[in-house]
Amino acid sequence: MTDPVFVDLSTSPPTEDGAPAQCTPAPTITFDGPSAYPTEVAERLAEQAAPIIARYPQARSALLPLLHLVQSEDGHITRAGIEFCAGQLDLTAAQVASVATFYSMYRRSPTGEYLVGVCTNTLCATLGGDEILRAVCDHLGVQPGDTTSDARITVEHVECNAACDFAPVVMVNWEFFDNQTPESTIELVEDLRAGVGVEPARGTGRVRSFRQTELELAGAGPATPPPPVEPAPSATKPPPPVEPAPSATKPPPPVEPAPSATRSRVETPEPPEPDPPETPVLSRHWDEPESWSLANHLRHNGYRGLRTALDTPPADVIEMVKASGLRGRGGAGFPVGMKWSFIPQEESPDAEPSIPHYLVVNADESEPGTCKDMPLMLLTPHTLIEGVIIAAYAIRAHHAFIYVRGEVASVLRRLRTAVDEAYAAGYLGTDILGSGFDLELVVHAGAGAYICGEETALLDSLEGRRGQPRLRPPFPAVAGLYASPTVVNNVESIASVPSIIRNGVDWFRSMGTEKSPGFTLYSLSGHVTHPGQYEAPLGITLRQLLERAGGVRAGHELKFWTPGGSSTPLLTPEHLDVPLDYEGVGAAGSMLGTKALQIFDETTCVVGAVLRWTEFYAHESCGKCTPCREGTYWLVQLLHRLEHEGGTTADLDTLADVTNSVVGKSFCALGDGAGSPIVSSLKYFREEYLAHLDHGCPFDHSLSTVFDSPGGNPTGGVR
Ligand code: SF4
Repeated sequence: MTDPVFVDLSTSPPTEDGAPAQCTPAPTITFDGPSAYPTEVAERLAEQAAPIIARYPQARSALLPLLHLVQSEDGHITRAGIEFCAGQLDLTAAQVASVATFYSMYRRSPTGEYLVGVCTNTLCATLGGDEILRAVCDHLGVQPGDTTSDARITVEHVECNAACDFAPVVMVNWEFFDNQTPESTIELVEDLRAGVGVEPARGTGRVRSFRQTELELAGAGPATPPPPVEPAPSATKPPPPVEPAPSATKPPPPVEPAPSATRSRVETPEPPEPDPPETPVLSRHWDEPESWSLANHLRHNGYRGLRTALDTPPADVIEMVKASGLRGRGGAGFPVGMKWSFIPQEESPDAEPSIPHYLVVNADESEPGTCKDMPLMLLTPHTLIEGVIIAAYAIRAHHAFIYVRGEVASVLRRLRTAVDEAYAAGYLGTDILGSGFDLELVVHAGAGAYICGEETALLDSLEGRRGQPRLRPPFPAVAGLYASPTVVNNVESIASVPSIIRNGVDWFRSMGTEKSPGFTLYSLSGHVTHPGQYEAPLGITLRQLLERAGGVRAGHELKFWTPGGSSTPLLTPEHLDVPLDYEGVGAAGSMLGTKALQIFDETTCVVGAVLRWTEFYAHESCGKCTPCREGTYWLVQLLHRLEHEGGTTADLDTLADVTNSVVGKSFCALGDGAGSPIVSSLKYFREEYLAHLDHGCPFDHSLSTVFDSPGGNPTGGVR
């Protein structure tokens, strides 16, 4: 939970003997060091800050990047850093400090050259994260949160890394180290201490130092220079895509036009999408060498959807996306085209909006179990960028933002390089492809706050404030970023748009179900033989997905699972044949959510699993409303006692009662999400709670780890 602010009202009630009650002194938040940088440091930082500030329509939006910048200078947030940011953005030090203390990535004490974060959220902990953290701390002789005496390593436990298909996962300076064991992580920290260069499992080269990484998060570091790209030809030169004549029976997918002689050499199109339509679509090219490059995107009909869109009136693009039935892939499932249509339309189709419109992509993927957007951006960032340009064109926005969780350095690096490539090739900037449409795209790094995945909290965060949800209405379509009409969409939602524009509504609707059409990414993690990303039409079942994934790990059986991340009610083996679409999962008493399927076998203690999720929600509660702030704290106390000490049946009643005080009474969906695993586990596993009453947990947690699984540690990936 974010740091509370204590106010001394000095009106404590007297005690029984009439003496004034003694208050516990409120902890004082302080930042160390002198109040200002030496002149040469301040000048250098100001030089780096200027282009960062210039990226934003309003300067305060640069606050999170500037805090990353001063953290790169000092290794943590200092008094001088706070004052510097305040001076640059015309804020008070108190305003800056209130933001700095909200986000977990801003550190209050000196950090080692390598920040080693072991994930101990439910899934990683179940598969062995706890053992890894214990082993590394024992090996280094430190406690979680400590730094080694040589200042090389800081170890801490972290919450979900959005890499659950590679659990257990360790982060070093926010780079992924997948499928870890205690031994491999000890070897890793020894290499780091010895100065041996280490490469992350999925990344962009050697791990940089903590300070260098912070500089990159700020957007001030030297970007990886994009390869030279021939400029894209003007939209007026090549003919628009020619749709083939539909057959009398079933319309084939649109055929991409033959490349004209004037096209760039890298634009050699591949054949059109298969007929009949099939998946994968989004992940089809993830396994290819340099799948993230512009050249590879162009080879696979990249930016063809954009060309078609730019030849189409914006309102017609919105109608097309509406007709496709594409639903938001970030959890709520709200129709994407309908969301776009809420943006006020101008009276004349050619008129510019009287106030700016904004597009914001929510890439703050943090829901435990959810790990689809990070690989999408890491492996095919241009698919997202193309979708951003189309969406911005449709809603008449000239400024778009991709708000990426900060704890994924390689993803940010890869995305920024792709944006640079797109600018260099004329897909971003002014007069895109000769269409007259202009768009600026900013990749913005968050700073560690799950609640910023809530769209209004994200907007506050993007404006340089504490990321706390806003009261709705007004909705973002009316008053979003900078109080202007704004669309906020998930990464996968936006990345799905180019293929719809390219291949048509019928093609998209021929997949999935009537109310949940199309394809999507399902993330399988946990006790499954081949965890990974499985792309399939909506409506597939877990039984079918498990068949593709080799089933539950050998020798074990399914006990419970989440259909869409930890905030969706648990399901059991009796739900294996539930269609995984919005309606099917809803009818089964849960929610499709982010389609994050976390699989747990019979070795897993459901009370322990729910405790970890609840600790996560208590940690991530933004503190704005009492039911969530206080309720999640008490839920952790109750679950902790049940798991570690035992309890009474009255505790179970209290657990249900407190949960009832949070669910439906909190300001935003985090409170409801916190209650979901508790309510559903009490419904399906009450006997297991009762088995905890006398002495606490009866399970041997070591049986849940994957270190000794037959065949070794399973590895995640694209399926
Ligand atoms: Fe913040 Fe309340 Fe939402 Fe919890 S439910 S995250 S305290 S606004």
